[in-house]
Amino acid sequence: MVQGVGFRPFVHGLAVRHRLTGFVRNEGWGVVVEAEGGPEALEAFAAAVAGEAPALARVESVRTSRVAARGDAAFAIAASEGEGDAFSALVPADAATCDDCLRELFDPADRRHRHPFITCTQCGPRFTIVRDVPYDRPQTTMAQFTMCAACRAEYDDPADRRFHAEAIACPQCGPRLDLALEEAVALLRAGAIVAVKGLGGWHLACDAASDEAVARLRTRKHRDAKPFAVMTARPQALVEGPLELLGALERPIVLLDRRAGAPVCVAVAPDASPRGGMLPDTPLHPLQAADRDRPPGLPRARPLRRADRDR
Ligand SMILES: [Zn+2]
Ligand SMILES: [Zn+2]
Repeated sequence: MVQGVGFRPFVHGLAVRHRLTGFVRNEGWGVVVEAEGGPEALEAFAAAVAGEAPALARVESVRTSRVAARGDAAFAIAASEGEGDAFSALVPADAATCDDCLRELFDPADRRHRHPFITCTQCGPRFTIVRDVPYDRPQTTMAQFTMCAACRAEYDDPADRRFHAEAIACPQCGPRLDLALEEAVALLRAGAIVAVKGLGGWHLACDAASDEAVARLRTRKHRDAKPFAVMTARPQALVEGPLELLGALERPIVLLDRRAGAPVCVAVAPDASPRGGMLPDTPLHPLQAADRDRPPGLPRARPLRRADRDR
């Protein structure tokens, strides 16, 4: 699993570190690297390709062979070869918003402040947006959004954490919400059910503290008693016990025991304890949570701190 996980920038950085020239390129079935340099540097480089790979990558095997030297002057990220055994490469799973992106999301000075589609090479949609491999921008549903100059500069800069982040976007050039966030929050507050398009599908959202809203969702879903999962940015207020699993990149739904006095109505899980809980998995969800919890009259969007997620 080497596409869409920042693998080519990683290889590029590694090659520069070992003073190698050549190129790295996505192909349908994996990644091809040609590297040129001294024998010791090449050996260390080959070992590091698997040993130091990015967290989201998975290297199943590294095969090496000797080729004629090309005398390249630098190490480059080459354009993808369109051909290849198209579906044998693994397309990475979607990953929940990373801490760096969350920090920018709530930073009023950042150009992606409150941008609900913030993402980087280490987080965001992949499987959800890919149409074909290799996983490159033109092969994703993001192809229709032309990068602005600022995004293009980040995408092209090997030192930037969005170097070749295929889903890169910003408020100037990226997707927009169909319904203003404030409006969606107001609807949730009023007891409505809101369909939120997220990673891999839709969430039907309503106020978990409202008996009336949850009852309406049960009626519409024809789901009499089966527990609903609760999404929260502050799980410590709702549940007992260890929360480590909640923070996993996959944002799993975890079975948890309810904390006494938690603001979740009985109808969410009428006869069941433990119940399912999950942390937000897209930037949109923490924005909603921040807006929803904002007491009227106070400034919008209380920053979601790293500690909030770790506890
Ligand atoms: Zn990120
Ligand atoms: Zn942009």
